[in-house]
Parts: sequence; C-alpha cells; structure tokens
Amino acid sequence: QTKAEKRGGYRHFDPVMAARIRDRRAIEQDLRSAIDGDELHLVYQPQTDISTNEIVGFEALLRWTHPARGNIPPTDFIPIAEESRIMLRLDEWVLAAACREAAKWRNPLSISVNISAASLRNRHFPAILRNILTASGLDPARLELEVTETTLIVDFERALETMLSVKAMGVRIAMDDFGTGYSSLTYLRAFPFDRLKIDRTFIGSVTNCDQSATIVRAVLGLGRSLGLPVVAEGVETQEELRFLAGEHCDKAQGYLIGRPALIDAFVNIVDRAPKEADKAAA
Ligand code: C2E
Ligand code: MG
Ligand code: MG
Ligand code: MG
Repeated sequence: QTKAEKRGGYRHFDPVMAARIRDRRAIEQDLRSAIDGDELHLVYQPQTDISTNEIVGFEALLRWTHPARGNIPPTDFIPIAEESRIMLRLDEWVLAAACREAAKWRNPLSISVNISAASLRNRHFPAILRNILTASGLDPARLELEVTETTLIVDFERALETMLSVKAMGVRIAMDDFGTGYSSLTYLRAFPFDRLKIDRTFIGSVTNCDQSATIVRAVLGLGRSLGLPVVAEGVETQEELRFLAGEHCDKAQGYLIGRPALIDAFVNIVDRAPKEADKAAA
C-alpha cells in the first residue's frame, strides 16, 4: 500500500479521471514540442465594417496539428495550456506570428489577437509585446488584443497594470465574448476597454429569440453610450447581419463573412493598395 492509498487518495479510483489526467499531461508535454516544431499555425477570420461591408481587419486564431492526434481545436488545448507555464509561450508565439504576418500586408488592416490570463498576469508581458512590435515593425495602432472576462478575474490589479502599459503603446484592447461572464458590467467599468465583442450565443439567436434581440440592442446602446465600438461575432445569416445593420452595430465577424482560413485565401484583400482616403489620412 502506498502513502496515498493509506490516506484514501485512491480508494475511489476513477479510471476516466486518471485517463483525463494522463491526457492532460500528454497534451502539455506535446505542446512544448509543438511550439519548437512546426505543428502550430494561425488562421485568419475577416471582420467587416457593417456600414460599408468592407473587410477592415482579421482575428488570428490558433491551430494545432498534432503528429499523432491530428487537429486539436483550441477549445481543447487552450484551457489545459492555461493551467501551466506553457500558455505564456503560446501567447508569445501567436503574437509574434500574427504581427509578423500583418506587418507584411500592403493594406494596413487591423489584426486581433487573443491573449490569455497568463499574459495579463505576467509582469514581463509589456516588454515582450514591445519587442514583438519592434521586431515586426507593425504599427501598434493596427493591433488589438482580445481578452475574455475569465482572463481578468485572476488578478485584478495586475491585469489593470498590464492593460494600461499595453494601451500606452497604442495597442487597443477588446473585451471578448461579452455577455457570457458573470461580471461583464463590473469589468467594463473597471478596465479601460476600447471595444466590445458580443458573444456569438446572442447573435446566433437574435432573429428567433426576442430576449436575444433585446440584449443585443442593449449592448449596442451601452457601447454607444460608453463610446466603445461593438463587434458582433458568429454572424452566420443575412438576417442576423440585417438586424445588426439596422441597430448600427459597428463590425461583424462570422461564417457569413468568412470562415477562419490560411492568409493565402485573403491575398487579394491584404495586398490590395489602401484606399485613397486612407492614403490621404496617412
Ligand atoms: P474566440 O476568441 O471567441 O474566437 C471565435 C471563435 O468562434 C473561433 O473558434 C471561430 O472559429 C468561431 N467562429 C467564428 N465565426 C463563427 C460562426 O459564424 N459560427 C460559429 N459557430 N463559430 C464561429 P476557434 O478558432 O475554435 O477558437 C475558439 C476559442 O479558442 C477562441 O474564441 C479563443 O477563446 C480561443 N483561442 C483561439 N485561438 C487562440 C489564441 O491564439 N490564443 C488564445 N489565448 N486563445 C485562442
Ligand atoms: Mg477572440
Ligand atoms: Mg470571441
Ligand atoms: Mg466566443
């Protein structure tokens, strides 16, 4: 009998739980080699300005092709990575890759990158970000970091400090999945967000559920009052887009506009010469 067994640790041995823990360890270990190898890549999903229907930016989304398991969706491995130091390295990898890519575009579109709790908690994050901006040459005004509410819960003071340093560099910050957390409004007041992204669970039911429509209208009103542009995520139908246009939502992102894809799929957009108006403004 081992010590743990004497303490009763394995009395209710659960093989499913044990397998999950093994799986977790394996995924963590495999992520380490994924970062060093070439198993990670980014896909890009377009965002349009709803009033003009033009693509104005992209969100970078991480993809992992595991040598044995094949594609593992971020919703499976990000939560595991978030429990270990590996998440910091993942964030850094994603940021560097997205900035390097966007800096190559002839068209100065915006680029949104998801950042985890680990980075907001990391006192070295602003320096890491600054180095990435310098190395890539990307104009900080084109970069937007997306943070979710769960990202903020961890360490309020530190998160605020990080956000202020990031903003001082000229990088914007969006609150992702707005409306799904418990304290969206508290966080909205406490943190200096530049944008709101309404979660797709609201958008997906906006045309067949009065409550969803009311909530989306309220979020848009809130954004307007606070001076924060609102992005709708998960727009899948023309009806949803029409609704959002009618309610003066600023930007849309979703399968209707385009699925996340390799940047090659968007060469015509990213390498198009900037509009005359943009050139005049520059
Ligand atoms: P998110 O940041 O809210 O990203 C939007 C997710 O919704 C993406 O899933 C995207 O593919 C999906 N989506 C976009 N439009 C539609 C639509 O019209 N319908 C539906 N059903 N889905 C749509 P994905 O790529 O699987 O990412 C899931 C989540 O994983 C992200 O949610 C984000 O929280 C996290 N994630 C992805 N990439 C990264 C990353 O590089 N770093 C970090 N920290 N998190 C990431
Ligand atoms: Mg996001
Ligand atoms: Mg989102
Ligand atoms: Mg979401």
